[in-house]
Amino acid sequence: MKLKIAIQKSGRLHEDSIKLLKECGIDINNGVNKLKTEATNFPLEVFFLRDDDIPQYIEDGVADIGVVGENVVLEKKKQVRVVEKLGFGKCRLSMAVPKAMDYNNVKDLHNLKIATSYPVILGDFLKNNGVTADIHEISGSVEIAPGIGLAAAICDLVSSGSTLFMNGLKEVETVLKSEAVLIANEGLQEAQQLLLQKLLFRIQAVRKAKNNKYILLNAPNNNLKEIISLLPGMKSPTVLPLAEEGWSSVHSVLNENDFWDIIESLKAAGAQGILVVPIEKMVI
Ligand code: ATP
Ligand code: ZN
Repeated sequence: MKLKIAIQKSGRLHEDSIKLLKECGIDINNGVNKLKTEATNFPLEVFFLRDDDIPQYIEDGVADIGVVGENVVLEKKKQVRVVEKLGFGKCRLSMAVPKAMDYNNVKDLHNLKIATSYPVILGDFLKNNGVTADIHEISGSVEIAPGIGLAAAICDLVSSGSTLFMNGLKEVETVLKSEAVLIANEGLQEAQQLLLQKLLFRIQAVRKAKNNKYILLNAPNNNLKEIISLLPGMKSPTVLPLAEEGWSSVHSVLNENDFWDIIESLKAAGAQGILVVPIEKMVI
């Protein structure tokens, strides 16, 4: 019995999807131009597909689980379960108009011709905002539509905004924020469900580890209490005596986001020799 996972064959999510499996300790033979492959050390079969097709394959049960952008999940409206956010493939679906256009709010889109590859999401967005517009669906190179007179505005995926800028456009509304997610068939057999739990456990350990750092520092014993109070840790920090009298070594785990604030407070409290090292896996 194997778990079948669908990932993007090539494109922006391909490498990060493979990397995620690798970080979960799953080795796959990643041959080019292959339609599918198998993991050597986990009961996993990997299908390489176009991202647009993945929700349908999952709904039909051809694959059990898959990795796609939330944007694709919402656009395709298939019966699939979103299991976990994966933290890569971050982008937003935005409205953009020519730089010279005098844009104040969403009502300015009224009656405009808007080019997009996401007619369903855009349709919902316009409806929610009480705007009627002419949605023109195109499958690629949406950003050139205004320049060639095909549409007055666009709704497209953006990450940095530089593509829009180069095409003389400005971003005016965020329709959706998206990242890659793990989706699953809604009626998985028990065996597949168990394998999914196993995989999910590994994914969560990898993702938690990424958001955290292991910190080691030397603390003067007379200020140990204050220094420990600054470190949240998983339970409480580990404290070991140093060979030098009056000093201790303190080990703990820090959230990446709190890092700089805490470092400053630690130094102010007398901590020295502060080391921050990455964590590979983290199981709580
Ligand atoms: P396919 O050949 O599989 O249909 P595609 O051309 O539709 O590929 P890609 O451009 O590879 O798709 O994007 C795949 C996904 O990556 C998007 O659906 C989105 O979730 C995510 N993504 C992240 N950043 C961006 C970006 N700047 N532009 C487009 N997609 C992005
Ligand atoms: Zn696609």
